[in-house]
Amino acid sequence: MSDLMQKIVSLCKRRGFVFQSSEIYGGLKSAYDYGPLGAELKRNLMNAWWHDMVHTRENVVGLDASIVMHPKVWEASGHLSGFSDPLVDCKVCKERFRADKAPQAAAGTPLTLTFADKPAAELARELIEKQFNVALTRHGKTLEGAIAGDRGYVCPLCSSPFLSDERQFNLMFKSSIGPVNPLEAVAAALEAGKLEGLKGRELRGAIEELTQPSAVYLRPETAQAMFVQFLNVQQSMSMKVPFGIAQMGKSFRNEITVEHFIFRSCEFEQMEMEFFCEPGTDDEWADYWRLERMKWWQKFANEKDRFRFRAHDPTELAHYAKSCYDIEYAYPWGWGELEGIANRTDYDLKKHAQHSGAKLEYFDPVQNRKFVPYVIEPAAGATRGLLVYLIDAYHEEQVEGETRVVLRLHPRLAPIKVAVLPLVKKDGMPEKARKVAEAFLARGINARYDEQHAIGRRYRRHDEIGTPFCLTIDSETLSNDTITIRDRDTMAQRRISIDGAVAEVELLLNG
Ligand code: ATP
Repeated sequence: MSDLMQKIVSLCKRRGFVFQSSEIYGGLKSAYDYGPLGAELKRNLMNAWWHDMVHTRENVVGLDASIVMHPKVWEASGHLSGFSDPLVDCKVCKERFRADKAPQAAAGTPLTLTFADKPAAELARELIEKQFNVALTRHGKTLEGAIAGDRGYVCPLCSSPFLSDERQFNLMFKSSIGPVNPLEAVAAALEAGKLEGLKGRELRGAIEELTQPSAVYLRPETAQAMFVQFLNVQQSMSMKVPFGIAQMGKSFRNEITVEHFIFRSCEFEQMEMEFFCEPGTDDEWADYWRLERMKWWQKFANEKDRFRFRAHDPTELAHYAKSCYDIEYAYPWGWGELEGIANRTDYDLKKHAQHSGAKLEYFDPVQNRKFVPYVIEPAAGATRGLLVYLIDAYHEEQVEGETRVVLRLHPRLAPIKVAVLPLVKKDGMPEKARKVAEAFLARGINARYDEQHAIGRRYRRHDEIGTPFCLTIDSETLSNDTITIRDRDTMAQRRISIDGAVAEVELLLNG
């Protein structure tokens, strides 16, 4: 872990931002608890997203869907594949599929690989030549010259034999719903000898089938609920395309590698929006949201040039996506994803329509016609965003021979907005200070009364947790009702009237 990350992790623990989950039991790897200040910071970040994405836009509404959804949702979305169904990735078109359902092709069979169009076929040809050192010949949107390997199957989408190893693995956390323990069914089958003689994949398949009726999954993304509830939201709110449905909340992924503190964890929070638009207008909307989202992240950052776009190479695009841009951040270990903005076309609505039988279409009263909307999806990580702003805010400087650590958090994100400090714990200063703190709280501004330790130490503590302003009640306050206001970033102090303190700080917080 880099020096900077070590300092941030240590500050997070020391000051109550982020703790390792279940630490006294040795910690649960890849799960984190947000302490008093972390909870505030996360809430401020997510509230800012909700405010800027939903409250200030007439064409975006919110959704708060359940974490556990009908298992068919995950079947339709392609997330679901039982543990008995080995997953394979096509290294050419990136399709993920079940090996046991893939088209058969005996070893040595000549193959024709087929793609959406000529450019896609040409890109695939170049990739195969570069990565596998196999030269294929292109005819229009097909490639000739590949031979099936020993696997006995090929990619169901493009017929490529260039495949990953089989993995009996699923990223989704599985649980069961209802009063019956699914293991009862397995025990009963064992006792009755129904599993006798079964081995390997067959045995796992049989157990999977027995436990399947009660199986449910924790959502690995918040997005699917917006597709599944598309009609309910559109009709109940009389939404006219183009419009968006936004949701934020917990997602769960059984990540194989968890890394870089809260960057990649198994339980995390997302902020996602599905924006439904008329086909043909999708490129314009994709551009619009891409730029909006970049502006949003930069708005709260000190160093705006540490964010960049990365367009997905056509070879890494999911087969249904028309375009995808990542907003990346320069983390201490290098550039990495913070948010993805994808043009998902009508893929998801059509898939859910096909699996559920529901007509997921929009009737346009102006054009008097029905169509399936295209979808632009800005999908961001909230907990990953919190890490980005901690990295962006962390700052050290030398002040009077000492290292001052200051979290230069945007005032909108700062957990505590103002600290109210009596210079000493006597002469009526605590009483005055408490009154000032109460006036802030009554106005809905998160203030903290703090009398512990010498004033210098209190300033340092609040610098370290990112409190933008400290108000100090001193002996002069007692004679003329003025207090000092200290700015976190410049450390400059000036006197203001005690009566005007709330209005003054409110003005400063709002920029
Ligand atoms: P990555 O490539 O980093 O695994 P992804 O492409 O799988 O991310 P998406 O499915 O597009 O991620 O999810 C949208 C956002 O959710 C990501 O940009 C990221 O900010 C966040 N996210 C995804 N997985 C995790 C995780 N395991 N822990 C924390 N945040 C995550």
